[in-house]
Amino acid sequence: MSRPPLVLANWKMHGTLAEAGPLASRVLEGVRRVAGVEVVLCPPFTALGRVGELLRGSSVALGAQDCHWETRGAFTGEVSAAMLAELGCRYVLVGHSERRRLFGETDERCRLKVEATLAQGLIPVLCVGESLEQRERGQTWSVVEAQLEKSLRGIDGPVVIAYEPVWAIGSGVNATPVQAAEVHAAIRRWGGEAWSKERAAQPRILYGGSIKPENFAALIGEDEIDGGLVGGASLDAASFIRLVELAATRS
Ligand code: PEP
Repeated sequence: MSRPPLVLANWKMHGTLAEAGPLASRVLEGVRRVAGVEVVLCPPFTALGRVGELLRGSSVALGAQDCHWETRGAFTGEVSAAMLAELGCRYVLVGHSERRRLFGETDERCRLKVEATLAQGLIPVLCVGESLEQRERGQTWSVVEAQLEKSLRGIDGPVVIAYEPVWAIGSGVNATPVQAAEVHAAIRRWGGEAWSKERAAQPRILYGGSIKPENFAALIGEDEIDGGLVGGASLDAASFIRLVELAATRS
């Protein structure tokens, strides 16, 4: 089954309106001539409207970095998936390791967010991955499997899974293509058991963690790596455009 490569930019808490517009415009211009890759920009909530306007009618989609699981209510400071859909979002990151580590995100809440996202016709990008300590103790798969079990088993609908080893995020040290491919293959096998073989072949499984133009060609060369979730390198238009070009070599 062919899965079009997907490259997502996670701008994290970067991008005032003055910065986000020019960055989105430069990316849009640069990826216009690259065919066969789905590109998504996830700016901070405050820039979604501005970036969404710039992307409207283009092949680049809009995504958000988080959402609340309720549609509305007394949840000061939160943003619902319904609000994100209204702004033109197509994807929502769920369970990014920074949210798990710094803001107490649990697998149970991730599941609610996956459900809320799907209910609004949006596609959740569930982030999973182990810490360095867990990897060193040989617990990589048990950690990832538990995250998948709690947040995705029994979930129907289109999803994207991002394998993001916590030790690789923002550290400058990426997982090797072999390390990443091993976990990606295990995630695909898990899908075959949890859903069905046919359904398990559908989700894109992205790698994330210190992706740069210098390491992405080897990662995207692995059969099981369907694209990338890019943090730091997505803040530089030239680097991000290069990553999209490299992803195109896979399609
Ligand atoms: C991320 O934020 O999901 C990420 C992978 O960050 P970085 O590319 O900076 O490691």
